[in-house]
Amino acid sequence: MIAYLLALTLGAQSPAADAASAAGAWLVADVSVIPADTDEVLRHRNVLIRDGRIVRILAPGAKAPVSDADATIIDGRGKYLVPGFVDAHVHIATEGAIRDSKDPVISTLELGQAHGYDRQVMLGFLKAGVTGAANLGGSARSDEDLLWLRGEIAAGRIAGPQLYVGKRINGPRVAVALQPASTVPASKPEAPTTAADGAAAVRQARERGYDFIKPYQFLNRETYRAVVDEARRQGMVTTGHLPELGCASCADRAFAFAHPMDNIAHSEELTRFARIGSDLSPQDLDALADAVAERKIAVTPTLVTLKTIVGMYVQRAVPPVPGDWATRVDPVTRLDWAPPANRYLSQAFRDQDGADTFSAGYDFARVLTRQLWKRGVPLTVGTDASLPGLAFGVSVQQEMIELREVGLRPIDVLRAASINAHRLFDPKAGSGAVREGERANLVLLDADPLADIHNVAKIAGVFTQGRWWPMAEIDRRLDEGRAFEQALSRQIQAHKAGH
Ligand SMILES: [Zn+2]
Repeated sequence: MIAYLLALTLGAQSPAADAASAAGAWLVADVSVIPADTDEVLRHRNVLIRDGRIVRILAPGAKAPVSDADATIIDGRGKYLVPGFVDAHVHIATEGAIRDSKDPVISTLELGQAHGYDRQVMLGFLKAGVTGAANLGGSARSDEDLLWLRGEIAAGRIAGPQLYVGKRINGPRVAVALQPASTVPASKPEAPTTAADGAAAVRQARERGYDFIKPYQFLNRETYRAVVDEARRQGMVTTGHLPELGCASCADRAFAFAHPMDNIAHSEELTRFARIGSDLSPQDLDALADAVAERKIAVTPTLVTLKTIVGMYVQRAVPPVPGDWATRVDPVTRLDWAPPANRYLSQAFRDQDGADTFSAGYDFARVLTRQLWKRGVPLTVGTDASLPGLAFGVSVQQEMIELREVGLRPIDVLRAASINAHRLFDPKAGSGAVREGERANLVLLDADPLADIHNVAKIAGVFTQGRWWPMAEIDRRLDEGRAFEQALSRQIQAHKAGH
């Protein structure tokens, strides 16, 4: 039956099958489906996608309704259909971020064409199979850009992942540095030091249309609590840093777990707690894992972030980006990764207290991540891109490999990269699994990711925004932006020559 269907329809395949088209229906024929909400693999399925939804997953031999006949056939033989990946922790570079940059070269770049830079960044996510990305806050103008881009992408006018835009709420750094009270700036919602201003900051973020709140570590005790409580009242997810320890107005460890966020944005946050007091003791590792599990907090380990920072500390160089992704890193990001902009390569970074424990901290975070997983803590895949060495998109695949290497089964890695993130950021929109009725944010892989997690990089194409994006089409669009990137490169070279 399947062979018949393929023979009938592959011959009739239109040229449009190779190009992204605005709306339509696709039938992925004779494909292995990995739904990812269970451990099963469904072999030889015909999957119908229409209007951005998975309409039908037909078992072998099941007869397709006549109404499916308009669907464009995609040959799924030997391929695997998995949920689209989500980066649960990025800081997306936008034109606004470039304008807000303090770097003397970056801030003066002439960008010309509106949002051309942003479009390139968004396409990079699709190239890596990333159909969702949660931004954990940036500069004022980059936050505004992302609220706008979220709408453009949702409307199908710009190609890119579904964006979840977070608002970072942080206190003034000076408040926690044991300064005399007289030097602490007056509280305001933009840098709150009172519960009232903390709650006001959450309400403002909600009114402005942000999807979630990122509480940050320099909030004092009462403000941190107010932010977490108000976000819960407003139905907004919190994912961020744990509060600072060890100053007059700071929280203590018990306080942080008594007023937990929904998700901790780095395993490094827990490692930071373990450095203070216990100096990364193994007993503390168990205590922290237990506390997280008991309070039902989810965690984004961002192991690849730590690995990359440790790599810069040890090697005094930015680790290489995998494969041909090096050629896809845009010139502004490249400049940001080089000295003097790259603070991880600075002497000040090397001189800071505790720098000698960075490597041990990475090891601790890896074992801690394994312990969290064994306790059933929901983990998500996040990267902190575009931190130096971490390119948008491909860093998600790197983090998936990191999670596999600490012992997660490949299916658990896929779950972390998809379903767990959906549950955190977008639970009303479905489960994120490859099931009938779910949104069609999908990746078609050329090889089995359960046999080898590295196969998540072997991408035939992506379904998102109601369309099929064959890899050749994504590459073609990325190449269209090359001239724009070369123009940026020339500006940067001219700056360097002039200084
Ligand atoms: Zn971050």
